[in-house]
Amino acid sequence: MRTDRPADLQAIIDEIHATLKSRFGEGKVADYIPQLARVDPKHFGMAVVMADGRVLRCGDADVAFSIQSISKVFTLTIALGKYGENVWKRVGREPSGSAFNSIVQLEHEGGIPRNPFINAGAITISDLILSGHTPKEEIGEILRFVRHLANDDDIHVDRDVARSEAATGNRNLALAHFMRSFGRLDHPVDYVLGVYFHQCAIAMSCAQLAHAGLYLACNGRNPLSGHTVVSEQRARRINAVMLTCGHYDGSGDFAYRVGLPGKSGVGGGILAIAPGRASIAVWSPGLNSNGNSALGSLALEMLAQRTGWSVFSG
Ligand code: GLU
Repeated sequence: MRTDRPADLQAIIDEIHATLKSRFGEGKVADYIPQLARVDPKHFGMAVVMADGRVLRCGDADVAFSIQSISKVFTLTIALGKYGENVWKRVGREPSGSAFNSIVQLEHEGGIPRNPFINAGAITISDLILSGHTPKEEIGEILRFVRHLANDDDIHVDRDVARSEAATGNRNLALAHFMRSFGRLDHPVDYVLGVYFHQCAIAMSCAQLAHAGLYLACNGRNPLSGHTVVSEQRARRINAVMLTCGHYDGSGDFAYRVGLPGKSGVGGGILAIAPGRASIAVWSPGLNSNGNSALGSLALEMLAQRTGWSVFSG
């Protein structure tokens, strides 16, 4: 069945919620900072925002969580807006085949990260968009952009998460210093990571996140606000990078199982895009071995199967 009918879709997401209920809590919650370690693993929420603005939700769709690496989609969008295709001189767009925080590949490739969604790449993007701003201004710009996309001013940076990220961020510090040693970062490491840690610490609900991603499902334009965020071609290209690189070393598996562009975060959220149809956000904190939400991936696989949504079919 292929369906875009809201009544059918609500029944589908209710059924996914009911089917997965006995498994809530599966996977391993990120525990590198206390704020993530103490999140109740049994949370589960999903929100689908259709191209016509209708919103379908189930479970904890309105509970805010740490979006973590999903923020990388929004900072990439800002960077492309500021620098256009020149962004790709600083960062590649190939799947990494490595862990999200790997340092090994960077050495082989002269400090140029494989893509903007692994940590090294996202840190490079933070460096790029920081140009001409103080870190505080840039964090404000990112937050304003996300609020604008979601059409919701009730979106905030969780300062405790940001502080903990900074206090425990040795690996990210190592990545940043390593890139700076190759001359690949323009700003001091603490400025760049100040931006990076704060963008990761933005808290949003599934409903807010699905609204924020709607421009990627609608050819670059948010049909609810009427604002063109990016060109049609750019939306397509951001989706392409999400499909190929959005799930770290599990990107191939996600494309195979779900068939939609998506970006995951270590907080257990996933933003997925069904072009022309809907923007979807799911949250279940338990992660699989690749660091992606275990049940979140499964829920999206079930949604894609039941709706027929896929970028691989007409
Ligand atoms: N703040 C996390 C880190 O940089 C983000 C990781 C993620 O969401 O994948 O380690």
